[in-house]
Amino acid sequence: MKFLIHTYGCQMNVRDSEAVEALLVAAGYEKAEGEEDADIVIVNSCTVRQKAEEKAVGKAGNLIAAKKITGLMGCAVKRMGEDVFRRLPKLDFAVGPRRFGLIPRILERIRAGESRILETGDDEVPSGMDAHPDSGKSAGSFQAFVTVLLGCDNRCSYCIVPDVRGHEYSRPAREVVAEVRALAAHGVKEVCLLGQSVLRYGVRNAAWEGEGPDPDGYTEAFPRLLKELCKIDGIERIRFTSAHPRGCTDELVRVYRTEPKVCRHLHLPVQSGSDRVLAEMGRRYTRAEYLAAVRKLRDFDPEFAVTTDVIVGYPGETEEDFEATRSLMEEAGFDNSFVFKYSPRPGTRSAKLPDDVPTAEKERRDQVLLADQEARGQRRNDRLVGTVREVLAEGPSKRNAARWSGRDSGNRIVVWDVAEGCRETVGARVKLRITAAHPQILVGEKV
Ligand code: SAH
Ligand code: SF4
Repeated sequence: MKFLIHTYGCQMNVRDSEAVEALLVAAGYEKAEGEEDADIVIVNSCTVRQKAEEKAVGKAGNLIAAKKITGLMGCAVKRMGEDVFRRLPKLDFAVGPRRFGLIPRILERIRAGESRILETGDDEVPSGMDAHPDSGKSAGSFQAFVTVLLGCDNRCSYCIVPDVRGHEYSRPAREVVAEVRALAAHGVKEVCLLGQSVLRYGVRNAAWEGEGPDPDGYTEAFPRLLKELCKIDGIERIRFTSAHPRGCTDELVRVYRTEPKVCRHLHLPVQSGSDRVLAEMGRRYTRAEYLAAVRKLRDFDPEFAVTTDVIVGYPGETEEDFEATRSLMEEAGFDNSFVFKYSPRPGTRSAKLPDDVPTAEKERRDQVLLADQEARGQRRNDRLVGTVREVLAEGPSKRNAARWSGRDSGNRIVVWDVAEGCRETVGARVKLRITAAHPQILVGEKV
């Protein structure tokens, strides 16, 4: 039987889908080319905003209409619970984010005649966390995601993630190291470590249990993990996401300083630049503390790339609060940013507050921040013209097949022309002199 997985949402969902893919292949299923030749289609859902949930649930509805065996997995399942079968009465199965390891067994049960199977779970550690499709990332490249921290204990006022992904759990460092070693043996060169607040790795539960103190003197679990992973032959780059300013410690900077394999990029969601809104959100930092964390990274390396997430239209967000966000973004000099319009999520603290910023005003604030980022991205990238950057080649550029594309250590996309008759290799290190800059892309030529 052939299966297909459609994935919505964040990188953690991408990673969970990959693990399910690997588990299904191991169980004897075959990956389908497209929807037409798939017998089983699984939709991995997101629920972080209302629209995201609607998209995934709508997709599952269409597949049911097309008479495929249809399963829904991921965050929206955990949020809806039993309700999922009221929304989708003909859905075959639904599995929460901490139960995806059960999918092969569930498919057996369905083929034996069971229907409407629901497994939501709470804080389980899914089996198959370390299962990867043969080629690392599904695209068949040299990059792979590795989930190191499950769940989230931060409980920001607006966020449904802790309700659906459960409590924090740090996978044992030993397990993570073994997983990355296995990936390296299969040709993976770049890993991206995942966690909602990944710098809290080893905080709620010990990750280095039984391993004794670190010989290099690291006392914090995450920097120590980074340093250990850098020792693995074949691994050339290590990324991780997402970060919280409280995790930007001296030990983290020490790893940056001593380990060139650790990429010079941090995704550091700020959400707002207004101290009043930050306090209401329960983000546990002030504007000044956030900016101090950014400064720490840029003091170490002025080209250090910092990207962020921002919410516009949080309940009670005034024009003044919004302007504080604008000015913070300018001061932080973000290399890129993702702006989200506030969406109340059932059961969260902020859902009890009136969603009082009108949709049109949210839209306007979104557009203003996007325009600011375009200009800022252009300015930041202009400063890199003339520099030489090293990228790992990812493949032909989507827009123009005569061009290749790759990323530098700062996660900046760089494209370059490939002369006719010349060949590039996926995953190869390429040195490029930057000749032109756009807000989100650099253009280079080989040196
Ligand atoms: N764990 C990550 C964020 C995960 S959710 C972190 O805290 O760093 C990804 C982004 O979605 C968040 O950073 C936030 O900007 C946005 N988001 C979360 N809940 C939202 C909501 N209710 N409405 C709008 N945007 C939201
Ligand atoms: Fe949500 Fe906050 Fe946890 Fe991120 S840190 S997943 S925004 S609760």
